[in-house]
Amino acid sequence: MSGTFYITTPIYYVNARPHLGHAYTTIVADVAARFHSMTGKETFLLTGTDEHGDKVVRAAKAENLSPRVYVDKISALFKTLWPQLNIRYSEFIRTTDPAHIVVVEQVLQKIYAAGDIYFSEYEGLYCFGCERFYTDRELVSGKCPDHETEPEVIKESNYFFKMSRYQDWLISHITRNPDFIRPERYRNEVLSFLKEPLEDLCISRPKTRLEWGITLPFDPNYVTYVWFDALLNYISALGYPDGDRYRKFWPNAQHIVAKDILKPHGIYWPIILKAAGIPLYKHLNVHGYWNVDQSKMSKSLGNVVEPLELKNVYGLDAFRFFLMREMAFGLDAGFNEVSLINRINSDLANDLGNLFSRVLAMAHKYFNGVVPAVDPAIEKEFTLELEQDAIRTIAAYEKDMESFAFHKALASVWEFINQLNKYIDVTAPWELAKKKSSLKQLETVIYNLLEGLRVISGLIYPIMPDTAETMQKHLGMEPDMDAFKLECLKNWKTVASGSKLPKSVTLFPRIDPEKRQMAAQTDTGSAEFAVALKPEISIEEFRKVDLRVATVLQAERLPRAKKLLKLEIDLGGKRTIVAGIAESYEPEDLVGKQIIVVANLKPAKIMGVLSNGMLIAATDKNTKAVATLDKKMTPGAPLS
Ligand SMILES: [Zn+2]
Repeated sequence: MSGTFYITTPIYYVNARPHLGHAYTTIVADVAARFHSMTGKETFLLTGTDEHGDKVVRAAKAENLSPRVYVDKISALFKTLWPQLNIRYSEFIRTTDPAHIVVVEQVLQKIYAAGDIYFSEYEGLYCFGCERFYTDRELVSGKCPDHETEPEVIKESNYFFKMSRYQDWLISHITRNPDFIRPERYRNEVLSFLKEPLEDLCISRPKTRLEWGITLPFDPNYVTYVWFDALLNYISALGYPDGDRYRKFWPNAQHIVAKDILKPHGIYWPIILKAAGIPLYKHLNVHGYWNVDQSKMSKSLGNVVEPLELKNVYGLDAFRFFLMREMAFGLDAGFNEVSLINRINSDLANDLGNLFSRVLAMAHKYFNGVVPAVDPAIEKEFTLELEQDAIRTIAAYEKDMESFAFHKALASVWEFINQLNKYIDVTAPWELAKKKSSLKQLETVIYNLLEGLRVISGLIYPIMPDTAETMQKHLGMEPDMDAFKLECLKNWKTVASGSKLPKSVTLFPRIDPEKRQMAAQTDTGSAEFAVALKPEISIEEFRKVDLRVATVLQAERLPRAKKLLKLEIDLGGKRTIVAGIAESYEPEDLVGKQIIVVANLKPAKIMGVLSNGMLIAATDKNTKAVATLDKKMTPGAPLS
């Protein structure tokens, strides 16, 4: 596939510093642009700042700065933030750019000449926060719904844009193009708004009240309304009306906005375009809000840590992944540090990180880190349709990425990760490695696993570009955009046999949720567990261990032994065992729990107590977790 893809963020209003909401919108734009470049398209990502209007004048005054100095300062904050989030924008536009101002004047003049702008006296209720007039119908108990303040009565002569003339046309355009505004809930919201008569839009502000704006080309006593100015950035940045970039990218334009600015983008903007004789954008993609749960955020110097700072604590790729995986695009989502840590530990460290470490460890152990060859004769038998799974995953991913359902696209990738883990369990490479006669099978299995990792590295590229590159390097490939193209990902057997794999790394260290801090950034971590396995045993050897279900009847600490608990258990009969879990559990936490016990372990005297069996628990750094069952069982039931 070729062609172009043009994606925009809103231009951010400079009356406040960048926050999580801005970061999310802009990361989405970056993810979408990177994904479309994987399909072979030429992409263009536009972002920038909206710098005119009352609110900017007031914010500047509050800091004792001139509007010009103030907008330069805040605009620079946005501009320098995006590279820190690995966002590669093509152009950063400011509405104070001279080239933008020229385009705004041209479009205003065009619409004015066509008779869609008229002059009229108007008396109305004006909210200074919103910089717009309100109708009684729009107010909530007489107050602005956004600012909860009473609007002031203002009487002035102004210029109005005849939006009402285009109402029926807009309804029919939205009805005939169901994807024009998506997800569907926002399309419905716009259509429901359009059921009421659309009022004409006041598009001027007298200079007596506001000077910080673009002067109307047909009346020097007025500046234009900030929205009319701002929306036009999407075409001025491309060099409208006859720039090469405008011709190339505008036919494939898509916008991303948060739901609070649905109306200007879903109603004003298409009507402005129509009135100016400019083709419409293709899609308006609307997302919900992040609700930050401050109670689940760590603090520094008594203040809640800003969500954006967490990228420095947990890593940028993990942060980007969380935002894209946790929010269903279009709906609101909760942001807190605990959920972020859980996602990192389960999806990244556990699922993806462990698979990567495990496969590379086997490639090093069995083949000295050289990518094995595949024998076509046995390939079919040992592929177990992994190739078809990859093709299916890529198809589902492509469809969901295309429609901004990023969380679903990632869920498909993680299903494929699970399939690879299952493939390891079924093919049991450690068994194949035992016999010389199964060498060819082992080669095929390891090769297929490396191929699976290559596909995954490509699919995560738009969301986690750095991790994708790290994975490729460790698969012995040159990190290269062509390798991330969907056409290449679909091409099974791309990893080159005979190439040398570098030493493995830990992609995502596990994070201790208690400490809410990064685990040490070393080469150990999860990889250590995957690599340093004990010598293999046979099933007969394993069957010698008699594992039983037991219910804990009583638990108490042992005097003078801070690590030990004494447990009375029911194992189909009463028994006493001693367990070294006192630093991770209070005695009362265990009473009533069903645990797993090695029932035929030779009894041993521990701190004066005869322990008749051993409880099974996992050890991870400084904490222990007792193995339990996910269903109630009769005490004494055997495990196998
Ligand atoms: Zn308001």
